[in-house]
Amino acid sequence: MDIPLLAAKIPPRIERLNELAHNLWWSWHVEARLLFKSLDNPLWKSSNHNPVKLLGEIAPDRLKAVAEDTSSLKQYDSVMRAFDDDLSMSKTWFAAEHPDLSHHAIAYFSAEFAVHNSLPIYAGGLGILAGDYCKEASDLGLPLVGVGFMYPQGYFHQHILADGWQKESYEQLKFEETPIYPVLTPQGQRLRVPLNLNNQTVWVAAWQVHLGRVVLYLLDTHTEENPSWARQLSDRLYGGSRETRIQQEIVLGIGGVRILRAIGIQPTIWHANEGHTALMMLERVRELVETGMDFAKAVDRVSATTIFTTHTPVPGGHDIFTLDLVKKHLHHYWESLGVGSETFLALGKQYGARDSSFNMTVLAHRLSAQRNGVSQLHGEVSRKMWHALWPDVKEEEVPISSVTNGIHVPTWVAPQMNRLYQKYLGQDWMERHDDPALWQRILDIPDEELWAMHRWLKYKLIRFVDDRARKHWAEHDTTPGQILTMGTLLDPDALTIGFCRRFTDYKRPGLIFQDFERWIRIIRNSRYPVQIIFAGKSHPDDQSGKHLIQEIYALARDCECGGQIAFIEDYDMHMAHYLVHGIDVWLNAPRPLQEASGTSGQKAALNGVVNLSVLDGWWCEGYNGNNGWAIHSDSKEADSASQDMTDAQALYHLLEEEIVPLYYERDWTGIPRGWIKLMKESIRSIVPFFCTRRMMKEYTEQMYVEAAKSSQDT
Ligand SMILES: *Cc1c(COP(=O)(O)O)cnc(C)c1O
Repeated sequence: MDIPLLAAKIPPRIERLNELAHNLWWSWHVEARLLFKSLDNPLWKSSNHNPVKLLGEIAPDRLKAVAEDTSSLKQYDSVMRAFDDDLSMSKTWFAAEHPDLSHHAIAYFSAEFAVHNSLPIYAGGLGILAGDYCKEASDLGLPLVGVGFMYPQGYFHQHILADGWQKESYEQLKFEETPIYPVLTPQGQRLRVPLNLNNQTVWVAAWQVHLGRVVLYLLDTHTEENPSWARQLSDRLYGGSRETRIQQEIVLGIGGVRILRAIGIQPTIWHANEGHTALMMLERVRELVETGMDFAKAVDRVSATTIFTTHTPVPGGHDIFTLDLVKKHLHHYWESLGVGSETFLALGKQYGARDSSFNMTVLAHRLSAQRNGVSQLHGEVSRKMWHALWPDVKEEEVPISSVTNGIHVPTWVAPQMNRLYQKYLGQDWMERHDDPALWQRILDIPDEELWAMHRWLKYKLIRFVDDRARKHWAEHDTTPGQILTMGTLLDPDALTIGFCRRFTDYKRPGLIFQDFERWIRIIRNSRYPVQIIFAGKSHPDDQSGKHLIQEIYALARDCECGGQIAFIEDYDMHMAHYLVHGIDVWLNAPRPLQEASGTSGQKAALNGVVNLSVLDGWWCEGYNGNNGWAIHSDSKEADSASQDMTDAQALYHLLEEEIVPLYYERDWTGIPRGWIKLMKESIRSIVPFFCTRRMMKEYTEQMYVEAAKSSQDT
């Protein structure tokens, strides 16, 4: 393998550390994480758990010492053995259950992938899902390859100014500190494929990221031959103009197919994660037309082997381009499809000829035979939303099904929680985590142990928050008031609510402040205090989202709130781990029917954090009456302001009458028995169902099998 050499000389006895650091397999295997941590704990921490950076900076003497230390070597050998066993294992779920599919490569396209914090090429939930999905594919043995985009400046970092306004900054990624390396030709040159952009030839190269057995290919236009405008195309995720966006999608969809061909991968199943990737379908149509097939037949062929997953009911979440932009950038392309502009443009029109825009979600629906939403409710909402595309069938017969999202359990379980599960569910619990029967044993965990664990994780979260604030104080020009907003006054014993997600209108981060007086009475109860931690970014163009941050920031500074409201800036995957492990109550308050699924509450449940959520997205299926709380939103309210008020009242009522009393009801040893019962029921009833393991098995059985069959029929 052509893994780049690291600056630090690694002694031969432990040289495979480099290979391990470049396969993110380490990130979801505790022993491997501990191995890197044991090399140099302070560096591990300062690198935000990035072993590539750690190996680049570590003192050579330290590595030499490790290479001579018997117990370290034992640890090293054991991790490398597990790594090799896992990567070469032939008895995977997929091999056992679907031997006939083993030669069908599956290509999974997504505009963002969140695989680890050292590769910040994601904005939020969509990316997390794509990353978790690839890791699960490795665990289950699916022959999947990912195709995405390398954004050297990634998504932005968030800073909150003294007046509460979000400021964005972009950092150039240091490739040598990132677990990626270039895709090369057999001759050792950078592999690249051409495509036409702005009537010029632009070259697309690729990076590879290894996730266990799965390889993710990230496209990049920063190559020497390209003009500077083309190089800048791939700079940022969701950063540029509409024009940049359509060009990025051309690179991802068309360039992505060409890169796979050039590498020699011939997928028979193609899965598009959201409409940004729809052009990969057209490129495959073009390939068939080039062989002499007519357009309509080529479309049938391509759609039979294509799966499209739509991810949001929010109109702004769908990619819509003006016809002018589409004409400008794709006119040469429809010529190569052998169709006129009318036929081509009709593919992206939702309402027929009178529609004057081109919608990538519509295009994707038209070019795939299997389509799905990401929760049962979202399936329903999507059938309604896209009914216009199938005017001849009843709404409930619109051919969009659903597969509910899940999380990659090994990625999101706290290491300490993992040990507890090993002790009471069995050493092999991780291999069987989607078996509901396994989780009946959760009752075997003594209340005292589960509570001690939860308190420890909460303490770690508070430590994390304090560390951040301290660092901020030392390194930035900050006022004491700003430091207070960062959670320095949080109390590790108080009931802690978390609202950690993107700041945008429909998620309603401010719902809890609708009746400010009542809220203050709830949190400032001296006997039963409550505190809340907010974290989340607003899209750079989302002005109202930024206003929401500003309002909450002002409250966090307000002494009336007693330091019991915190806003932690720059929410990302690394921070999310601390939060989903250590919060008490995970709050989710979307305006109903607007949250397609959501996954952060599933991560919380896995670690014993209890959900408090509007009945929307996955929670509609997850909530069983005993495993958390549902805010029964009354969607019949006339306008959104009165709906917010009714929903807020419901939320206050739950807090006052149920949540706060239950949390503080302790027995004589200080243990909240009722709360722990709830934690256990939440874990038992949620984890085996809302995981990528169950989800990937469903995609395989409901969709991939069908697509593979179609590929043989034609
Ligand atoms: C899990 C996760 C999300 C998704 O959260 P939802 O709001 O529940 O969809 C977003 N961002 C990060 C960093 C996450 O870890």
